[in-house]
Amino acid sequence: MRHPESEMMSFGYDPMLSEGSIKPPIFQTSTFVFKTAEEGKRFFEVAYGLREKDPAESMGLIYSRLNNPNLEILEDRLTLWENAEAGAVFESGMAAISTTLLELLPPGSVLIHSAPLYGGTDHFIHHVLPKYNIDSLSIIPGETPENVQKRLESKGWQDRVAAVYIETPANPTTELICIKNAKAIAQTFETEEAKVPLIVDNTYMGPVFSKPTHFGADIVLYSATKYIGGHSDVVAGAAVGNAELITRVKTLRTFLGNMGSPFNSWLLLRSLETLSVRMERQAQTAEVVADWLKAHPMVEHVHYLKYAAERSEREGRIHAEQYTSNGAMMAFLIKGGEKEAFQFLNGLKLVKLAVSLGSTESLAEHPATMTHADVSAEDKAAHGVTDNLVRISIGLEHPEDLIADMTKAFENVG
Ligand SMILES: *Cc1c(COP(=O)(O)O)cnc(C)c1O
Repeated sequence: MRHPESEMMSFGYDPMLSEGSIKPPIFQTSTFVFKTAEEGKRFFEVAYGLREKDPAESMGLIYSRLNNPNLEILEDRLTLWENAEAGAVFESGMAAISTTLLELLPPGSVLIHSAPLYGGTDHFIHHVLPKYNIDSLSIIPGETPENVQKRLESKGWQDRVAAVYIETPANPTTELICIKNAKAIAQTFETEEAKVPLIVDNTYMGPVFSKPTHFGADIVLYSATKYIGGHSDVVAGAAVGNAELITRVKTLRTFLGNMGSPFNSWLLLRSLETLSVRMERQAQTAEVVADWLKAHPMVEHVHYLKYAAERSEREGRIHAEQYTSNGAMMAFLIKGGEKEAFQFLNGLKLVKLAVSLGSTESLAEHPATMTHADVSAEDKAAHGVTDNLVRISIGLEHPEDLIADMTKAFENVG
């Protein structure tokens, strides 16, 4: 087996099927011509699950809501990063998340999840899923399966658990959740007939620095808008993992119609070629910036994975086991409050004041009033989303220029 880096340029694509074109063309087409009526019939039988596909048979191209070469090549390449069995690409990270949850959670079931979650995910779980009588219980980091079971029993929910969903590192403070422990929680509620899948949002560190399927995740989700896309020019999402579950998710995707488009899939194929190089360099630069911030007199605290063990022994252990890097995301507490945080943000020139993350340009934002504005005051306090917290995503600029820009921004404070 080659390394995924070596496969991102050519895996799953035969140039000879496209006039020798070294790169896959953009198959900007809605539909595909069948050679014969019999062939069309055979393709539909497989697409609609009316019969099993022969081992040697490839899925015939039918219609771009069901399949398209750009989408399929991208899905195949995404699975290589963690040897996942199958993949599905969507028009956004939220499309991947909502489609997966709707498929795996029957009406009346219960979802166990970590907290804090990405704002859109949090909204979907607390404001959309209840319309289908789907309840949710949030776990406390480090909580044992036995304790989760006790809390569910006290609500009479222990027989309704249909999935466990976690996000790690969590946004914005990079709090770490143990994937193996989440798997143990899921298994507590499994029966012979009903599996309880573990879903992991791996947007922050994956797929290069974190491979959740190796720790028991059944489905791994991505906002491909972030590191996978990496250039702030596309919104997309992905799910990879267990083939049976991904097939179910893809079937619902066919009817929700939120699959990745040919052009966005093509953009992501191009991004995947540099994913590992970008993430490695972004992480290297992030370490220089984080160490500098940590020593800055106007900084109270820096949340960054290199310092995970300083926060707690538990997080230090998870960091060592689950991740191969410190990543390129950080958040810091500026001395003062919202006023000082805003003065800093307004003083940045090279670093852009914008939400999103994982891109080639560095981005900074104020979680309490921007990405996490919707979160209750109580939850903000519980998860350290304070008025003086600034989140930074490090890009590909030279670290000296980033530090010079932030030095100026600190001079703007006061
Ligand atoms: C951005 C993000 C999402 C949502 O993805 P979109 O592509 O914006 O729909 C989900 N989870 C995490 C952790 C994110 O950062």
